[in-house]
Amino acid sequence: MNHVQILIVGQGPAGLSAAIYTARAGLSTQILGCAPKIAGDYDIDNYFGFPEPITGSELIERGKAQAKRFGVDMRCERVLGIHPTDKGTFEVKTEKGTITADAIILATGVARVKSMIQNASDYEGKGISYCVSCDAFFYRNKKVMVVGEGIFAANQALELKEYTPHVSICTQGRALTMTPAFLQRLEKADIPILDKTVTKALGENGLEAVLYDDGTTEPMDGIFVARGEASSLDFAYSLGLLRKGVFIEADNEQKTNVPGVFAAGDCVGNFLQISVAVGEGAKAGRSAIKYLKGFNNNGE
Ligand code: FAD
Repeated sequence: MNHVQILIVGQGPAGLSAAIYTARAGLSTQILGCAPKIAGDYDIDNYFGFPEPITGSELIERGKAQAKRFGVDMRCERVLGIHPTDKGTFEVKTEKGTITADAIILATGVARVKSMIQNASDYEGKGISYCVSCDAFFYRNKKVMVVGEGIFAANQALELKEYTPHVSICTQGRALTMTPAFLQRLEKADIPILDKTVTKALGENGLEAVLYDDGTTEPMDGIFVARGEASSLDFAYSLGLLRKGVFIEADNEQKTNVPGVFAAGDCVGNFLQISVAVGEGAKAGRSAIKYLKGFNNNGE
């Protein structure tokens, strides 16, 4: 298993900026993330230092080149889950394997995809969950469903299978984006994939059944929402981070409430702009450097 000192989730302005600081401080730095939304043909007209507009893709390419110059390792690899270990480090599960890190910087932007279940908020904590590692225990041997269409959903379903044999996936009518390897693992684990949409949760005192868009119902004890990619909120659930709405709570130094976990950029929900993401990334980098000084896994 690979180990790095700093693992940054996100290859946008916040993640790249943080990496430039941590790598220049001599810390082994791994960025996991793919092209951010801004990395297209958009003219950026308000970023300091560019008298003429620069495209988002060029700005990101320049940031990547700069980070690489300091030895940052960068991979377009999706993170599926992050968990603390009993050694004070973090285990990061990706679509390709597992990496451990001494500190984590979340720079995932905002990408919360809604469940499409009309009354989901009425059932949160009463049958609808966003965190398998937090809540699967409560659904041992019960009938559960993961709503989602990608590898994040597939991974959640496979994890649930360790708690109950009654697991299915419902795509909410979206095209599957799972890799063949994950589809094979689901088939082997006997997890069916339904091409339907759950529109409503049903039940008097908590979830008892789901209502599909075709008008049929099915008894159900639990729904785990895992649409799209794992977002900063999903990591917040599994790491126990404080949240403010759809954002992660971070202080002025980009520290979260969990030692060793920092957050920067759009995922903390301040002014959603490149300049702010870059500034917060720098602060998160500095805080992570401070955190790791004098810290090692032997407690020395
Ligand atoms: P993002 O740039 O959103 O980057 C998020 C990163 O996280 C991506 O690399 C993504 O792949 C990664 N990620 C997310 N989930 C995972 C996961 N599970 N595993 C691995 N990686 C993951 N701002 C301006 O200042 N000026 C502008 O002119 C401007 N124009 C914009 C135009 C458009 C079309 C858009 C969409 C935004 C614009 N913005 C602009 C806003 C700006 O893009 C954001 O504020 C900024 O990109 C935020 O940076 P970030 O690093 O926090 O997140």
